[in-house]
Amino acid sequence: MSNVNVILRKNQLSVTGSRKKILELFIGSNGALAHADIERRAGEKFDRVTVYRTLQTFVDKGIIHSIPTSDNSIRYALCKDDCCEGHHHDNHVHFICNNCEKTICLDNIEVPEVKLPDAFTPVQTQMVVTGICIDCKN
Ligand SMILES: [Zn+2]
Ligand SMILES: [Zn+2]
Ligand SMILES: [Zn+2]
Repeated sequence: MSNVNVILRKNQLSVTGSRKKILELFIGSNGALAHADIERRAGEKFDRVTVYRTLQTFVDKGIIHSIPTSDNSIRYALCKDDCCEGHHHDNHVHFICNNCEKTICLDNIEVPEVKLPDAFTPVQTQMVVTGICIDCKN
């Protein structure tokens, strides 16, 4: 049984063509994927609404997480195993390379805690660092 089927089964999702295709895109890429890229690469077979819903389902289930970018496009990356439905543990820093524009999950770098004024309740803190990635430095 393929990796994709295992992940879908584990999250109690039925195996559909769009789910398989989009999950394969994530597993086959190292780094994050932009919404537009996913749409383009899955677009021959699936319409925009299907792609959008599939991504939303994956986020809800803790399979992928979204990453904010400076140009307001959304990118997504695979979650680690400890994410599940309603519980993401994605408090790592994201790095966007100014040169190749790759978005990388820095899984071992935790987002520092931000001290908020009293009466403010944080839900999620995200941090994006831009610069030059290891591949572009060499
Ligand atoms: Zn997650
Ligand atoms: Zn780079
Ligand atoms: Zn990430």
